[in-house]
Amino acid sequence: MTRPIQNITDLTLQQLTLRMAEIKEPAWRAKQIHQWLFSHRVHTFEEMTTLSKALRERLAETFTLTPPEVAQHNEAQEGACPGPTEKLLLRLPDGAMTETVLIPATNRITACLSTQTGCALQCKFCATGTLGAGRNLTPGEMVGQVNALNDMLAASGREQKVTNIVFMGMGEPLLNTPNVLDAVETLSTRGYDSAISQRKITISTVGVIPEIAKLATSGMKTKLAVSLHSAFQEKREALMPLAARNYPLNELQPVLAHYAKKTGEPVTLVYMLLEGVNDTMDDARQLIRFASGFFCKINLIDYNSIVNINFTTVSSETRDRFRDRLLEAGLQVTLRKSYGTSIHAACGQLAAKGMEHSHKS
Ligand code: SF4
Repeated sequence: MTRPIQNITDLTLQQLTLRMAEIKEPAWRAKQIHQWLFSHRVHTFEEMTTLSKALRERLAETFTLTPPEVAQHNEAQEGACPGPTEKLLLRLPDGAMTETVLIPATNRITACLSTQTGCALQCKFCATGTLGAGRNLTPGEMVGQVNALNDMLAASGREQKVTNIVFMGMGEPLLNTPNVLDAVETLSTRGYDSAISQRKITISTVGVIPEIAKLATSGMKTKLAVSLHSAFQEKREALMPLAARNYPLNELQPVLAHYAKKTGEPVTLVYMLLEGVNDTMDDARQLIRFASGFFCKINLIDYNSIVNINFTTVSSETRDRFRDRLLEAGLQVTLRKSYGTSIHAACGQLAAKGMEHSHKS
C-alpha cells in the first residue's frame, strides 16, 4: 500500500529517523535534515546542500515541504511592552488560514501558537469561537508558525529568536493532543538553533479532562494553563457553554489536583475579568474555594475588546480589589494588564476577517 505524501516538517526526529532507515540512510541523516528544516528554516529540498542530489530528489518525491505563507502582518505597540506585539495571518497549503502572535518582553520572546483553524467550542468571548469548528493543524503547521516568526525577526535585522511558546492561539490544543505533543517534541529537540526547553512551553486548555489526565503521565515537562473565567458552574456555562458542560468544575478540580501532584508543577488558572459578569467579591470567594485545594497560581487578565462581542473590561479599581482578595487568601496571583493579555480571546480576529473577505470575494 502506498503512503500518502506527507509534509516532512510533520515528522519528529524519531519518526524521520525511522523513515530514513527504510531507505537505508543512517540516523544522522535524519538529524541533518531536521537541522535544515528547523535550524536553517529552508523552504525547499534543493537548499539542503549537504545532502547528495540523489537524496534531495528522493526526498522531494517522498515528501512535500510547504511552509505556511504570510498573508498579513499586523503590529501593535501595547503598554510597557519593549517592542510591538506582532500577529501573522498565515495561509496553509490547503488555503485554510491561521494566526500566530509574537509577544516580546524584556527577557523573552513568546510565540502564541494556534492548534486548529477554528474552534468547535464557541466560547462567548472568543473571536475564534465565531468561526466555528475548523480542522486540526498538523505538527509541521504548528512548528511552521515558530519558523515564520523567527524568519520575520531575522528579516527585520533582529538577532533574537522565539524563546517561549504558549499554545493559546486559535483552537483548543487538547482536542488535537497528539499533533500538539509532536510539535512540542520537535520544538524542544536539542541541538537546533531554535530549540526551546519544554519548561518554556505552556499548553493552554479550557479543561479537557481526559487529555489533562493523560498529560499528567506523559512525561512532558510542559506547563499547563486552564481557562477558568468563573468558578461558578452556571456562570462558566454561560461564558463557555460547551467546554463547561463537557468538563464540569466538580470533575475538573480533582483532575487538576492530580496533575499538580503528579508533575510537581502548579497549574495556572487563567481568569479573564469581565465587568458585571465575574468580577464581584462573591466570584473571588468562589475562585478561592476552587483554587485552595491544589498547587496552582492565578493569572488575572484583562478582556481584549472584540468587535461584535459584548463584554467590557473591568476598571483598574475592580481588578485590584479582586486581586487583593485572592492575595489575602494566600493564593499566588499575577496580573497581566496589557500586551498579549487576552491573546486567546483575541486570536482568530484576523482569520475571521480573512474568512469574511474570502466569503465576499
Ligand atoms: S476560547 Fe479557546 S476553546 Fe473557547 S472558542 Fe476560543 S479557541 Fe475555542
